[in-house]
Amino acid sequence: MSENSKAELLIIGGGVIGLSIAYHCAEAGVDVVLLEKGEFGTATTSQTARAFRTYFPRKPYDTELAVRSFADFRSFAGKMGFDPGLEKLGLLTVLTGEKQAEELIADLPAHREAGGELEVLTAAQACELNPWLDPDTIEAAIWSPQTYRVKPEVLVRGYAEAADKLGARALSGVTVTELDASTGRVGTTSGEFTAEAIVIAAGPWSGDVAGLAGLDLPVWGQFAELLHTDPLIAEGRVETPFTFHPVSGLKTMGLGKSFLVGLERISKQHGMRDIWFQAAVDELPKWYPQLENPTLHSAWTGTLDVTPTRSALLGRGEGEHERLLFAAGFTGHGIAQAPAAGQLVRDVYLGREPAVDLTPYSLETVRAKAAENDGQTFVLR
Ligand SMILES: Cc1cc2nc3c(=O)[nH]c(=O)nc-3n(C[C@H](O)[C@H](O)[C@H](O)COP(=O)(O)OP(=O)(O)OC[C@H]3O[C@@H](n4cnc5c(N)ncnc54)[C@H](O)[C@@H]3O)c2cc1C
Repeated sequence: MSENSKAELLIIGGGVIGLSIAYHCAEAGVDVVLLEKGEFGTATTSQTARAFRTYFPRKPYDTELAVRSFADFRSFAGKMGFDPGLEKLGLLTVLTGEKQAEELIADLPAHREAGGELEVLTAAQACELNPWLDPDTIEAAIWSPQTYRVKPEVLVRGYAEAADKLGARALSGVTVTELDASTGRVGTTSGEFTAEAIVIAAGPWSGDVAGLAGLDLPVWGQFAELLHTDPLIAEGRVETPFTFHPVSGLKTMGLGKSFLVGLERISKQHGMRDIWFQAAVDELPKWYPQLENPTLHSAWTGTLDVTPTRSALLGRGEGEHERLLFAAGFTGHGIAQAPAAGQLVRDVYLGREPAVDLTPYSLETVRAKAAENDGQTFVLR
């Protein structure tokens, strides 16, 4: 075995998460090898709606991870030499029932404590921001200005080049096929590697990769599709904020003259595409009366990285899996949390106290949620 195939830390997966980890660890002086089966950043990282947000209703811990990442996004161009192209978007979370409004508004102090900038709006104020909404369907809204369009491909390039300059060896076109957690031996299509510790950052495939070492990591890949409406205006661009209806999981934002439409649906069941497509057609006019009988078209499809908690798995295995670290299953917000994820994995590897409490991201927490959902293959928001 050549010296080249040995490392202190070996990262599996060259999406935005793996590359952020590679950069942050190399910056801390760790000898890093990263293995990517395809090309860097061309899997889930290339399929996003390109939105960065810092508000995650009912999850102040996810808000905190994104707020920590926001600081890095703002300094990214200066530090890495690549401009991630932050373009102001804003997130409007529309509350449609009294109980829901009470609950989510009561939860705001925890999000503000985590650094989230959040303002409660009336129905009229919400409609000023998104005039396509119907005030009669709105109880209140939550406005989060810390929401931007971002360029994931720039993050990927920035992290990859900076990690390379710091001595990390990131290899594309190498598929991991074997993983021995007890010895740190990693079998690949390009020979064998060994490392003191191994990070599983393989996006939706993380469960399969962990399975090579006999570790049950509850992450799965789910079909995802973004849709768009017919043009809504004759000239210019639809300039509405990222607008979210938690009651149904409906998400919209401007896409040229149209709306880009997503519907947050989580299921392990296959063949849901047509059902979800119809659900999006049904949901839109409920909240946007001008879009009666909307014609929707497929914008693009992808594979979502899902866990049962719909938050990431971040941490280290136990017992025979102690050598394995994981950062996977960001369930639709991996771009927003990539900088913080890289820092947290670096700290876990180095045995430093992580900057945030990792309990919500632990294997124990996610497995407990998986057990709660047992037998329930179709979970709606
Ligand atoms: C339709 C859609 C819209 C989204 N919109 C947003 C958004 O607006 N904002 C946001 O923050 N997030 C969004 N997300 C989520 C975001 O894309 C992901 O959370 C994020 O890209 C995950 O990054 P990753 O590095 O973990 O995964 P990936 O980018 O999938 O990277 C994992 C890598 O591991 C590699 N790999 C897998 N198996 C092996 C193996 N055996 N050996 C070697 N390499 C391997 C894969 O080739 C892949 O490149 C969206 C996702 C989808 C599907």
